Amino acid sequence: MSAMSKEHKMKAVYLTGHGGNEVVRIGDRPMPERKPGEVLVRLHAATLNRVDLYMRDSGAGITHTLPQVMGIDGAGVVQAVDEGHPELKAGDRVLLYPGVTCGHCEFCVRGEEVLCTSMKLLGEHRDGTLAEYIRVPARNAVRMPEGWSFEEAAALGVNHLTAWRMLMTQARLKPWETVLIFGIGGGVSLAGLQLAKAMGARVIVTSRESGKLDRALALGADAAICSSTQDVVKEVMRLTGKRGVDVVFENVGAAVWDSALKSAVRGGRIVTCGATTGDQPGADLRRVFIRQLQIYGSTLGNLSELRDLVRFCAQHQLRPVMDQVYPLEQAHAALDRLASGQQFGKIALRLA
Ligand SMILES: [Zn+2]
Repeated sequence: MSAMSKEHKMKAVYLTGHGGNEVVRIGDRPMPERKPGEVLVRLHAATLNRVDLYMRDSGAGITHTLPQVMGIDGAGVVQAVDEGHPELKAGDRVLLYPGVTCGHCEFCVRGEEVLCTSMKLLGEHRDGTLAEYIRVPARNAVRMPEGWSFEEAAALGVNHLTAWRMLMTQARLKPWETVLIFGIGGGVSLAGLQLAKAMGARVIVTSRESGKLDRALALGADAAICSSTQDVVKEVMRLTGKRGVDVVFENVGAAVWDSALKSAVRGGRIVTCGATTGDQPGADLRRVFIRQLQIYGSTLGNLSELRDLVRFCAQHQLRPVMDQVYPLEQAHAALDRLASGQQFGKIALRLA
């Protein structure tokens, strides 16, 4: 550490261990050194994701080396890239695709690099985005939509990409269909609401908090169910003429799984990308096969999906919902806010 000269250091939020906020340090880390084929990005903003809390508190099952810079999504300005790169040059404003993939496994070759057997995610398996600089393969940098803030652009790379793949690729949502989104307020569920509305679908949202439901209605939700005072399945049936919804969009897990299965129309699709409240709910297999429900697991998305998403958002003038923006020095407060579940939209860190 003492060998690091001033110009080879950068400020970062990094993990020194696991368990509680005291393992999260704010201080100097070595400047990344760009290699050929890579892009060096001066990060301006990143947003927090649930996985940041997981890495802080446990990190179990995720191969990584401490100390490690936190943060999975981010946006900034290209500082350096190979000369003659067909798409990027110094000064370009970019957002990052969070997965660094091998490019030659069965799944990468198929164009499904999100399934890559050796995918390394920023902030999970390698240094992340809560820093002044990052180096990634040049293909991981995608030009930001015009007129967007860095905070908004950063938010696209994980939550919106996840919601996009869930709705567009897995569930193949149609404009005339109805989608039920559990637990509105978090980044993925809000992204799901925004994208499903922009795709033309009807959207029903649930939350235990009426304040979050009001805000979701203001964002375009067609109906809202307060799960602390109302029976979700009964309300869904009332709102859909006893039919059920075409698509259930779910990342809450065990606490809502039974309602998710019972809210779907015969032949309906249930797509899940998370299990915050537990990952071992009852399977109710009889319901699954008799009603021919289709259950999709999904996580993140491919680079091509991110590029499509950026164009879709630009075309529909759709911008991520932001909660609060913190300076890098207040990373602990930002993580606490995420852990509290009080947020509505993305919590961002400003890095420049
Ligand atoms: Zn691969």
